Amino acid sequence: MRMKIENGHVLDPGHIDGLRDIWILDGRIEAVTEPGAYMEKADEILDAEGLFVTPGLIDMHVHLREPGQEYKETIESGCRAAVRGGFTAVCCMPNTRPVNDNAGITSWIVQQAEKAGLARVYPVAAITGGLGGQQLNEYADLKGAGAIALSDDGMPVLDGQTMRRAMEYAQAFDLFIISHCEDLSLVAGGVMNEGTVATRLGLGGIPNISEYLMVEREIGLAELTGSRVHIAHVSTRESVRAIRHAKARGVQVTAETAPHYFTLTEEAVGDYDTLAKMNPPLRSEADRQAIIEGLQDGTLDCIATDHAPHASMEKEVPFDEAPNGIIGLETSLGLSLKLVHDGFLSLADLIRLMSKNPARILGMNNDLLPGAPADLTLMDIKASWEVAPASFASLSRNTPFGGWQLTGQAVATIVGGRLVYKV
Ligand SMILES: [Zn+2]
Repeated sequence: MRMKIENGHVLDPGHIDGLRDIWILDGRIEAVTEPGAYMEKADEILDAEGLFVTPGLIDMHVHLREPGQEYKETIESGCRAAVRGGFTAVCCMPNTRPVNDNAGITSWIVQQAEKAGLARVYPVAAITGGLGGQQLNEYADLKGAGAIALSDDGMPVLDGQTMRRAMEYAQAFDLFIISHCEDLSLVAGGVMNEGTVATRLGLGGIPNISEYLMVEREIGLAELTGSRVHIAHVSTRESVRAIRHAKARGVQVTAETAPHYFTLTEEAVGDYDTLAKMNPPLRSEADRQAIIEGLQDGTLDCIATDHAPHASMEKEVPFDEAPNGIIGLETSLGLSLKLVHDGFLSLADLIRLMSKNPARILGMNNDLLPGAPADLTLMDIKASWEVAPASFASLSRNTPFGGWQLTGQAVATIVGGRLVYKV
């Protein structure tokens, strides 16, 4: 089966930037040519006039909730949300029920994702048994079953010695740690950012130091062990500064932030809006600006969503009791493109943050070159649309962006040469 994507503006930062035709044969890129230059016969033609065609977007941090909480999301529904958002691949975190801390669950997730046949799913397995922070799991088995990285996301590994051993052990199997950085003793029961808004609302505050102290520990341990660490969902200016300094001296640290951290601040909590409750919490305006600067200067390597589905009933409770997290797969590109429209990033920068850098961190190459798997996102960066959670593919609706007007969205997603989503 040969597919031709014609007349699109192909943007593969560092390689291609201009009008090209892309030819796909049996799931792989066959050729990237000047428009009309290659005269094979295509079985299927996709007209991309007026669209950007980019390497597939990759979300390094999502929660698919299966096994265990299928009423919030399933692997299938999460993957459908992913491809609607323009993502050709996602990494799913291990805090399922049961926890993905053994090869049996890892390979089951891989099988379910293959059955769904939408986005590629790369499981992130747990660092410690049951996310308990004590016993290291069998990393060789987990890798053999398809784990791409290790994380106790949702729970910090509080014991420094355990994290040191985890880094050394992961390195031996060419895996890396994704660290959820949080010092729980400093969180001390807080439920939103520590500051004037929390004080006004009478809610317990979570200080910036609870995050960046652990960021500094992970940097120190990565430096000591010579291993690679990836910092999840960076939310504070101090974390950005610490990562910037670490990179400057050659520590193997990479980091992600999420669209909500550069789009919203603690003010979004407004009148106890649980849709703005997440962990780490929405921070101050100074933090938001530092996050954008971190994206601009490469301190933050990628944009991930931390897509965290919850049922409406679970969020419709007093603020203190509500679970943390918002969904993000179907709004990520639109929110991130705002940085381009507002002049903070070029489109090429954004494609680096949402596609090229995640691929590099995960040890993949998604250059649009002959022979590479045909994972592509077609986007209309000027299309105006309203965020309508009721029409999401995700089974959950917990987003603070409902009703927002965004500019730019994915209009087609191709995974392994198959058109898995089209507007
Ligand atoms: Zn998470």
